[in-house]
Amino acid sequence: NAWFGSPGPLKMASPSNPNHSEPQDRRFLMLFDFDETIISENSDDAAVSVLPGQQLPAWLINSYREGHYHEFSAKIMAYIGDQGVTKESIQAAIEKIPPNPGFVDLFRYLQSHQQDFEMVVVSDANTYFIETWLEHAGVRQLFRKIFTNPSHFDAAGRLVLRPFHSHSCPRCPENMCKQAILQEYVAVREKERGGVGFQRVFYVGDGSNDVCPTQALGPQDTAFARRDYPMHRLLLEMQQSQSAKFKANLVPWASGADIADCLDKIIRET
Ligand SMILES: [Mg+2]
Ligand SMILES: [Zn+2]
Repeated sequence: NAWFGSPGPLKMASPSNPNHSEPQDRRFLMLFDFDETIISENSDDAAVSVLPGQQLPAWLINSYREGHYHEFSAKIMAYIGDQGVTKESIQAAIEKIPPNPGFVDLFRYLQSHQQDFEMVVVSDANTYFIETWLEHAGVRQLFRKIFTNPSHFDAAGRLVLRPFHSHSCPRCPENMCKQAILQEYVAVREKERGGVGFQRVFYVGDGSNDVCPTQALGPQDTAFARRDYPMHRLLLEMQQSQSAKFKANLVPWASGADIADCLDKIIRET
């Protein structure tokens, strides 16, 4: 495990009391995108890299339709399986993807403030890639929930993807609206917590499909957008046009350290 280096992989301490129920009173909710946010590349590209020629045929690339990434991704996985690529080599390729700079330290920071942060992943990748990577990195237990497209290997050894849900948002791809996920999660958790909502919500992302969820954030909340990536550019445009739809704070990040610094300030002030 090359990137965690010394002092070794980030392994979470086991709770001192294994019967201890999870904290219900965490003040902050933190949502993370996966591809190009937690990890430094697109997980589909990592899977493609294990193909004998390390690339997709033109007919497959040309079949991509704008706004239908999930469908494209499913075709890629079927193709990879048909080329005889094994589950083991896909797993190895996913585990090898480096985290983005500073994210190991960010996760250490969040682990040391576990009582304050409830963490979830919201991603258009798939359960197999995300579970595999987080487990290998030793950070799976930091996340209370993973919202992503279900996936499983079929009898022919192909990774089969299914859409996460259906929704009525006109802005998002058919299989996933991250705002719908965010709003439902916040509502469910508030109910489970006896009517106590989160004080603040933080959303960390990079892509254009990370914009929709930020439209549900309030003035206390923060959208962490990867600097110079589509989410950042789109949110800057919204701010410049003084769109009333975006009410949150916008904090660009280039590394996990930028996010940790900002969270630390907020923790000290609240
Ligand atoms: Mg992303
Ligand atoms: Zn949406």
